[in-house]
Amino acid sequence: MPKDYVSPQHGHDGFNCPNPECEAYARQQWYHAIAGFDKRQLDPTEFRLWFPNISIAQCDKCNKPSIWVDGTLVFPESYGAPASSPDMPDVIKGDYEEAQAIFSQSPRGAAALLRLTIQKLTIELGESGKDLDKDIGNLVKQGLPERIQQALDGVRVIGNNAVHPGSD
Ligand SMILES: [Zn+2]
Repeated sequence: MPKDYVSPQHGHDGFNCPNPECEAYARQQWYHAIAGFDKRQLDPTEFRLWFPNISIAQCDKCNKPSIWVDGTLVFPESYGAPASSPDMPDVIKGDYEEAQAIFSQSPRGAAALLRLTIQKLTIELGESGKDLDKDIGNLVKQGLPERIQQALDGVRVIGNNAVHPGSD
């Protein structure tokens, strides 16, 4: 994830494009959805429906739209997380990309996959992979920044609750 990644937010003037082929930080132009009737094009201004709850942002970089209903991004539907980092180890890239792909359809499934990803990452970093809480604690002792620790703990707890409610 680029460190200056700005996730898409409804109504915001600039963010990283949710289109998987673009993902660049770009200015976004916002529009409301207006539908016209196909068979009554004689006077198009007269036969239009305005949908105030549907908005469309157009990316200045790729010109492609993202579509938002009631403030929630619904297209592109594969959007959910930034692309994997180029230096992400291969053993976790597949799980990360699967989590990214299913995020909008199944946030719980994505959270569980991300937890697995972190478990594999701690093994890559020389920890046991058996007790994630302890592994993260050991990484902190080796100098892992607190901000990263909080993010990892968040995924650990949320990902765990996604599969085993109420336990840690
Ligand atoms: Zn774009």
